[in-house]
Amino acid sequence: MALDISMEMAQRHGIPSRLSEAELRNLQDNPPAWLVQSRANRTGKRPVWVHLTCAVCGYSEAVRPKKWWPDFSFVFCGHHKNSELPELFLGDVRSEYEGVGSRFVGVVDVREDQA
Ligand SMILES: [Zn+2]
Repeated sequence: MALDISMEMAQRHGIPSRLSEAELRNLQDNPPAWLVQSRANRTGKRPVWVHLTCAVCGYSEAVRPKKWWPDFSFVFCGHHKNSELPELFLGDVRSEYEGVGSRFVGVVDVREDQA
């Protein structure tokens, strides 16, 4: 089977054993959740995505987290001005990490005595 799933699985999800080309293409272009899941399980690679949302404008992006990322307090698009960002609490120290996702700067605010 072109979908690379078992007959049993296809039947369970109501896929006829013979699909027209168009039906097959439609399934592959718009795979239902169970098919995506089945493929993800087979490769053994569990894709891990996180949603980053700009604290200023709300722009959101799904990205794969990088090993070097700390726990961000928040992220913002690189083009925003510093004055637009959430204010730093008194006594906190802010660190910024550029190159997060396609356009974000990651921010970590920590208490000064823990910095
Ligand atoms: Zn933004």
